[in-house]
Parts: sequence; C-alpha cells; structure tokens
Amino acid sequence: MSTIIYPTTNLKATETLTLERGDGAYVYDNQGKQYFEALAGLWCTSLGYNNRELIDTVNQQMGQLSYSHMFGGKTHQVGMDLSEKLSAMVPVENAKVFFGNSGSDANDTHIKMLRYYFNAIGKPEKYKIIARDRAYHGVTVAAASLTGLVPNHTHFDLPFEALGILRTDAPHYYRGALPGETEEQFVDRITNNLEQMILAEGADTIAAFIAEPITGASGVIVPPKGYYEKVQAILNKYDILFWADEVITGFGRTGNDFGSRTMGIENPAMMTLAKQLSSAYMPISASVIRGDMYEAMIEPSAQVGVFGHGYTYSGHPVACAVALKTLEIYERDNIFGHAAEMGDYMQKRLREFADHPLVGEIRGEGMIAAIEMVANKATGKAFEGGAVGGFAMQACQNHGMITRAVAGSSLAFCPPLIINKDQVDEMIEKLSKGLDDTL
Ligand code: PLP
Repeated sequence: MSTIIYPTTNLKATETLTLERGDGAYVYDNQGKQYFEALAGLWCTSLGYNNRELIDTVNQQMGQLSYSHMFGGKTHQVGMDLSEKLSAMVPVENAKVFFGNSGSDANDTHIKMLRYYFNAIGKPEKYKIIARDRAYHGVTVAAASLTGLVPNHTHFDLPFEALGILRTDAPHYYRGALPGETEEQFVDRITNNLEQMILAEGADTIAAFIAEPITGASGVIVPPKGYYEKVQAILNKYDILFWADEVITGFGRTGNDFGSRTMGIENPAMMTLAKQLSSAYMPISASVIRGDMYEAMIEPSAQVGVFGHGYTYSGHPVACAVALKTLEIYERDNIFGHAAEMGDYMQKRLREFADHPLVGEIRGEGMIAAIEMVANKATGKAFEGGAVGGFAMQACQNHGMITRAVAGSSLAFCPPLIINKDQVDEMIEKLSKGLDDTL
C-alpha cells in the first residue's frame, strides 16, 4: 500500500490498477495489458493519448514561457487567444472568461461571481442557488455543496445553508416517475415543484439555477423532452439565471459543440468548462459569464480597488497553449461532426442490450451513455447497495476495457471523441462479455 490518499476511493481499498502509458483510445498497465478507455479517463481525454501535436505544443510553450500569472492584468498572447476563441465559441452572449484549474474551482468562482454581481447591482439578498438532486458539480467545499450525491456530503458537514443551496428534483423519469405517470406528467410535476419552491423561498432571494445539460457522474441522466423548455420559462418568469455546468458536456460530447445546444438551453448566463477544454493534457477550466454581468461588476470593483479572486495558475500559459491547440484541432479535424456520427452509432449499438436480463435502462446522447443494471427487469427494482456496478466494471476491465460504475448500478461510457466504428464495435463486444460475467 502506498502513502497516497486516493481520491473518491474507499479508504480501506488498496491499489486497483497501475497504468503506465496511453496511445490513442488505449491505455496499458504495468504488465503490458491493453485496455480500451471507454470513459476517456474521467470523461476528459477527448483526443486520446499520445497526441503528437498537443505534446509538441506543451513542449514548445514550456520552453517559451513556462509560467506567468494573470493578477493585475498581467497577460500573455496564448491566454488572450484562448479567451477570444472560447468567447466566440460558447452560446453565451458577449462571453467573458475567467480561467481556473478544475471544474470544481471554476464552480466556486461562479458562486463568488454571482455574489459579486448581485451585490454590484444592489440585490445582495439574491444569493441562493438551486441545484438538483443527483447533480455532480465537484468537490471543493462550495462545489460539493452544489453536488447532490450522498457520498460527496457524508461526514463533510458542508455549509449548504450558509451558501444558500436549494435542492430540486433530478429529471430522471426511469427512477423518479410515479406509478402510471407519463413523461409529460413527470415533467409537469417536477417543474411545478421547482416553481413552488421558488415561490416559497421568494424569487428575490434566488440568484441562479445550475444544471449539467446531461448529467455524468450521477448516471448520465438525459431529461425528458420539454423539461428544459419548462425550466427556462420558469426561470425567466422569476428572473433567475441559468448556469450550465458543461464540464462534461462541453466540446462535442453530446452530438453538438455544447450540451446546452443539444438540450435547447438558450443563452445561459453562466457556463462552466474544463476537462475536454484541453483534452486533459493540462489542467485548465473556464468560468464563462455573459458580458452584461461583467459590465455590471466593473464599477463596484473599481470602488473596492480589485476583483479579489484569482488562482496562482489562472491562465497558466502551458495550459492555455494546449487548450488553444485542442480547440484548433476540434475545428480543423471536424471532431464534433465525427463525434456526432460515432455517437449515433454508439447509441444504436448500446441499445442492442435492451433485452439483456441485467439491463433496466439504456440512456445517453451523442458520445455519452449509461446502462443501468437492475435486480428485476420487469419491475425495474434496483439492486440493493449498488455493488453490481463495481462487479460489472471489474468484469469489463478483465476483458480489457475501462469503464466506470456510476450511481451504484450503472455503467458509464464516454470514450474519446476520436474513436472509429471498429472501436465502437470493440467496446460493445467487451461490454457484452462483461455483462454476461456479471449475471
Ligand atoms: N462539474 C461537472 C459536471 C463534473 O462532471 C465535474 C467532474 O467530473 C466537475 C464539475 C468537477 O470537475 P473537477 O473534477 O475538475 O474539479
């Protein structure tokens, strides 16, 4: 056992896998065994491993300027170029970009931005944030408070109330519907719950609603048709901002450039980006806000003398350079178009497991999917304890494929966007063996 405290791990557990290298959509362990990376690391290695252009970019930038900060407006060309490119790409009006290191710290930044903004426009009481059950928004104190997954809360005594976190329903029809309820009725009920909560709390106290357009860590929940339309109508009615957490769904993952586009979320006020922003070659994140929010904060910050928030590595030049190159490759090689095509094929092939005795629901969009395993296929009864996810994950690993158990009983798929049809077939074949071994 090493001296590492492993993240998101049962502390009783010992090491499970030692990886040595990666190439394309594959990684290799220290025994030389090959694995197909069906989760792109942690939903992030979009361009796969050992991409020469990205490696050369890192090397070149390391030699040119290995570090510079951005405090006080100190800057560098790659940072400015990346910000311009991102700003032009995102479906956020006149987007302004704040750089961070991870999805979690980017969400913390956004919480602080919200407070700063509403203080700036003279509405300090408008600070609460509506997050959804089963959401995943990271693990720092504030981001974990937004997260709606029990293991991320247990024993951490998080300050939900101080942060003004409110919780609303997860839009998961398969698990959340009442007996006999249609999808439409389900959407009506949970959006009505949302509206009632807003009325009970007072709309003047609520700053924003945060959502992953399609969730990742909580089991790849794709909301039913009409859900976001209704949610947006309610938020607009009560003057509450839409905050899209696109840490997983950004950059071609869902069949479009951004998950907001796929799910019909229009002009969100804020967007969180990380992971595929740099294809995970370097840690970098971006907290994007609408231009008018930025404008409103300029005068108040001049009064205080500073917008007192920033990380040592905000705008790290090597991370910016590799992110910029990643975005260029996405565009030049039509990666999003390719991912949309492969995504359709992957979704179609995954649905071949509909009759498998272990499979309760198959869900996903584009190149992100999950298969939920159930104890009783006819009734949808869930496995108790959720250990089945771990079994299935290990079984797939034995057959040379890395996937991830999410929400206990689901297996998630989120392969690199560069995979080809043969690799989708390979994934399906390995999954088939893994599921059969789990039976
Ligand atoms: N938001 C979403 C939607 C995520 O899926 C994640 C991580 O998986 C995060 C935020 C947190 O990002 P990080 O692990 O980089 O802090």
